[in-house]
Amino acid sequence: MIFHRFILGSFVTNCYLVADKDTKNAILFDAPADADKILDYLKKNDLTLKKVFLTHSHFDHILALQEVIDATKAELFLHKDEEKYLKNPELNLVAEHCDKLNTPESYQLLSDGDELPLDSINIKVIHTPGHTQGSTCYFVNDILISGDTLFAGSIGRTDFPLGSFDNIINSIKTKLMLLDDETKVYPGHGFSTTIGKQRKENPFLI
Ligand SMILES: [Zn+2]
Ligand SMILES: [Zn+2]
Repeated sequence: MIFHRFILGSFVTNCYLVADKDTKNAILFDAPADADKILDYLKKNDLTLKKVFLTHSHFDHILALQEVIDATKAELFLHKDEEKYLKNPELNLVAEHCDKLNTPESYQLLSDGDELPLDSINIKVIHTPGHTQGSTCYFVNDILISGDTLFAGSIGRTDFPLGSFDNIINSIKTKLMLLDDETKVYPGHGFSTTIGKQRKENPFLI
């Protein structure tokens, strides 16, 4: 599996691209900013972007979404509880940070436990409400894309509209902590880590 991390935008947001190394079909997790950097990478590596999955719809994860979708015609996926955030500038914080943001009209809604294979890549949807109601982590073959739910040494903020501290803790403890210690975790901000390290060291979980 091809794996690449982009660090994009003024909120220093991680965005991950995975691709099948034989078919060159690619999947993107979030589209934070700088669409040209994402599109250049696809072109240089001869990759075809097929799907974009959102970990959640806060503005710092979707600023380049419309441009990336327009340029690639990739299918967009997000959790069903996140749909209201995508269109609502108060909920997705666009109102606070930018003038206006166009977002795609066409997308497919996900539920907890959905599995979406693409060639050699399997994506399993893990609904982890708390940071937002539709926050989602994706188990991709054997790694975890954790969005703004679980960070190295921290967890996502829950003081945004409709956030819930109890829910995020419950999501992490009852869903993410079921994964093996060796599972690599790739968060929406900051460094990568492992489930085992967070189980032992994350101050919100011990
Ligand atoms: Zn967020
Ligand atoms: Zn974020």
